[in-house]
Amino acid sequence: MSKNFDRASEYEALMREHQINAVIKRPIGVSAFECDECGNPIPESRRIASPGCIRCIDCQTVYELKDKHYRSV
Ligand SMILES: [Zn+2]
Repeated sequence: MSKNFDRASEYEALMREHQINAVIKRPIGVSAFECDECGNPIPESRRIASPGCIRCIDCQTVYELKDKHYRSV
């Protein structure tokens, strides 16, 4: 019983570490050159207009729609 609990908290700590690493790897304010979703190049105008963007306009639109949907549920 206590062993299972240890494993669960260990996993949780690992996941948290992964999330922290992901944040460190992608500094806020630096736009990606390629879309994180589809891999298409992000136009320079968009990269300048939206600092920190990681998706092309199409994917960002879909992402925001999904995000809104999940939040409202
Ligand atoms: Zn895209």
